Amino acid sequence: MPAVAPTMLLLLTSAAQAWEVNHNSEGDPLHWPTGHVEYWINPENSQGVSAERIRFMTDAASGAWSRVTGVTLSFDYLGTTAVSTADYTDDKNVIYFEDEWPAEWDPSFLALTFTWSVEGGEIIAFDMAINEDDFDWSAGGAQADNDLMNMLTHEIGHGIGLSHSQVIDATMYYQASRGEEGKRVLSHDDEEGARYLYGDLLRASAGCAAAPQAGAGLWALAGLGLAISLRSRRQRADAGARGR
Ligand SMILES: [Zn+2]
Repeated sequence: MPAVAPTMLLLLTSAAQAWEVNHNSEGDPLHWPTGHVEYWINPENSQGVSAERIRFMTDAASGAWSRVTGVTLSFDYLGTTAVSTADYTDDKNVIYFEDEWPAEWDPSFLALTFTWSVEGGEIIAFDMAINEDDFDWSAGGAQADNDLMNMLTHEIGHGIGLSHSQVIDATMYYQASRGEEGKRVLSHDDEEGARYLYGDLLRASAGCAAAPQAGAGLWALAGLGLAISLRSRRQRADAGARGR
């Protein structure tokens, strides 16, 4: 019987810290040193979603994170762009639709967010590719498709340095299903993760004092995808056609 107690404690501890942050190879948590994130949108898509609607949803999705109590985090939309590649050298953090999902990216990913960081874990760039090669997207209301804002809220979480949570109700849970909208609203678990990274910018900006060398150590964090939705009609229809 005494052996039970430590196990229970472990479970409780685990549940209390289900959120995870991404780290670089040195173990530093990835974060935007000032808590300020600028981004561009490439609104071109085959889903029939207007640029205004994408802008609105991105604003709402990023706002969910910046409004977390006790968090210093802000987002600035800089405009539309034709950039449609995940590449930090273009000096633009871009959210774009990818209609030819690269073979090296897992086709079960609804989207994939890349972050690039330098020493100290300071993020210098992010790009978000939305998979419209394998999935259909809805700007709201179409239960048969994947909800854009649901995904955007999750992927922006990756963009600020969060990894996946084990909490099923969390925005940062790794799976989503068609028609799901629950990730639009952050869970307490997501908020705790955001506060860890941006709740005390003195801690986060301590890395600045280390004067990171320009161009040194850039790591692409691939695999930050919101995996799943195995029941996509298009995924099945396109399964034999991929690679064209
Ligand atoms: Zn994810």
